[in-house]
Amino acid sequence: MNDVKRKAPQKTKISKEKIKEAISILDVAERFSPKINTRTKRPQIICPFHSDKNLGSCRIYTDSNTFKCEACGAHGDTLALASGYLDIPLNSMDNLLERIVSEFGLIRENVCDHCTSWDYYRGKRVPDRLSSEEYKRLLLDDHYSVPTEFEQIEYEKDEWDYVPCRYTQYYYRSLALQDPEFHDWVVCTVSRKYWLRYASMLLFCQSQGYVLMEDVIQKAMDDSIRLLRKGLMDKRLFRKELKLRNILLNEQIEESLRTARNRSDSGRSAV
Ligand SMILES: [Zn+2]
Repeated sequence: MNDVKRKAPQKTKISKEKIKEAISILDVAERFSPKINTRTKRPQIICPFHSDKNLGSCRIYTDSNTFKCEACGAHGDTLALASGYLDIPLNSMDNLLERIVSEFGLIRENVCDHCTSWDYYRGKRVPDRLSSEEYKRLLLDDHYSVPTEFEQIEYEKDEWDYVPCRYTQYYYRSLALQDPEFHDWVVCTVSRKYWLRYASMLLFCQSQGYVLMEDVIQKAMDDSIRLLRKGLMDKRLFRKELKLRNILLNEQIEESLRTARNRSDSGRSAV
């Protein structure tokens, strides 16, 4: 038998630059900082480099993707901040990058040194992505969780079930880089659900004469439509989605009218 050891398949390295384009400093702060105040131009975070308990000393600069702590003097870029929270020193860069890829549910091949699909999306479509704050407003959250590990549990004799014991979080923003088509589909589907919920709340307010509430809901609906347009990478999909929402809304209205009519009919016949 041949004694030559077979080489383990060589893993391509993750690109620092690609990670920095895929993940912003705000993404890192929102994910790892125990507290955060984003209601200011320079969001305040908890500094991972000194024993920080309260907001105030450490800020992030979203335009340059950097942070600076006035208390301990720590400063740096997105990777430096992640290194602090994850407790992986910058000189273990490969470990840090691997960890970021798994924490943010990025597809490894898409952020490796030799990735051809990247250049296609780069510059052209990626800048249209929403910020994590905007995704939150559109979808009420900025990520979704997918079970990736299961535990086998015997709930009756010889009756087994698989129960998820570990989830991976996929961030909508990183999904935009990995698979634009799937990203658009998810954004349409999830935000549609919330939009239709707003719409039925609006109808209720109009029927009850709650004018103030009406204004608030109308604003949320307009905002959601604006963000949808901004977030979709395939702009043609936007018109299609609006058309579909109007059809669904009309069905919803007809259904509720039918229910109301049936109720009053059965009320009358009971008399
Ligand atoms: Zn500090």
